[in-house]
Amino acid sequence: MKIAVLAGDGIGPEIVAEAVKVLNALDLDFDMESALVGGAAYAATGHPLPEATLKLAMESDAVLFGAVGDWKYDTLDRPLRPEQAILGLRKHMGLFANFRPAICYKELTHASSLKPELVAGLDILIIRELTGDIYFGQPRGRRIATDGHFPGAEEAFDTMRYSRPEIERIAHVAFQAAQKRSKRVTSVDKANVLETFQFWKDVVTEVGKEYPDVQLDHMYVDNAAMQLVKEPKRFDVVVTGNMFGDILSDEASMLTGSIGMLPSASLNSKGQGLYEPSHGSAPDIAGKNVANPLATILSAAMMLRFSLNQEAAAQRIEAAVQAVLAQGLRTPDIWSEGTTRVGTAEMGDAVVNALR
Ligand code: NAD
Repeated sequence: MKIAVLAGDGIGPEIVAEAVKVLNALDLDFDMESALVGGAAYAATGHPLPEATLKLAMESDAVLFGAVGDWKYDTLDRPLRPEQAILGLRKHMGLFANFRPAICYKELTHASSLKPELVAGLDILIIRELTGDIYFGQPRGRRIATDGHFPGAEEAFDTMRYSRPEIERIAHVAFQAAQKRSKRVTSVDKANVLETFQFWKDVVTEVGKEYPDVQLDHMYVDNAAMQLVKEPKRFDVVVTGNMFGDILSDEASMLTGSIGMLPSASLNSKGQGLYEPSHGSAPDIAGKNVANPLATILSAAMMLRFSLNQEAAAQRIEAAVQAVLAQGLRTPDIWSEGTTRVGTAEMGDAVVNALR
């Protein structure tokens, strides 16, 4: 089991160190190798995703990723910015399926902006297609309009497109994920307006016939955005395209109120994956031992489950995280009256102790 460890920038090195600590405590046989990525890689080599880092990632079963980015790199040319490393890894590894769970732990229900009864026990899995849609469709650009409301005016345009195989493979991922959960999939589209998403709906429906044990329903994206805040527990697995998934997964993550708790996984068709917290590099708190490492530790659990075939170890980590929350241990982002404030490293140590 070869793991590429790419800690990145900001709080990345601190939170990844805690996840590595937890993985080492499992007494499994991992080959973990670290490499530079993001701003740290740019500073050392002049590129955010050096050849050696990409090679290591491609040769590994999984990538454990921290976060990249820092405001000091915001003036660089776009291809050299730290965030390009993530896009490069997604592209080269073919990571088309993005898993974003939104789980609200009962100890943290007060952190949500919704009423506790709406989010207590929430456990949604949003599966976002990651390599297609309007984010990558060609052609795109700026030009002088020859038609439309203002012929002769400057305009910008993008192309929304999905091919049948792209929709089929993400639909299979969603139905198979649902089979391991409560056997319900909601496919989110905008079939009433967009040709691309009428096609999406048709193809998902066809694929669904291969999974008669899974109940499929369809919802327009505007309604889905509304239902997520009205009655979030009605959802189990949600599958959608790149742009709608981008927006809905961030909305869903906020239902839990604690960005420091949310893991994510991006998988390719070979089962290789990149596992990272849903949050960024948080330069405002880097190096202060206050960042919450639990999202990264839970990402390591997803890595064990989806890329390394170690379900029991994944469950051990998830149970250990539950246990430290039940003990009342909290990093500052999730701290509340009556709980015990701990730092990044102490939280990692507590998870290791709970594992044992
Ligand atoms: P951010 O997620 O880094 O931070 C948003 C807020 O949440 C900050 O106040 C931060 O302190 C807090 N926060 C984030 N993670 C936390 C944790 N684990 N524990 C406690 N608090 C936490 O988002 P941002 O400030 O918009 O972006 C900062 C940098 O991160 C930018 O350079 C951005 O481009 C980059 N970024 C990277 C990724 C990635 O690596 N995948 C994702 C998003 C943003």
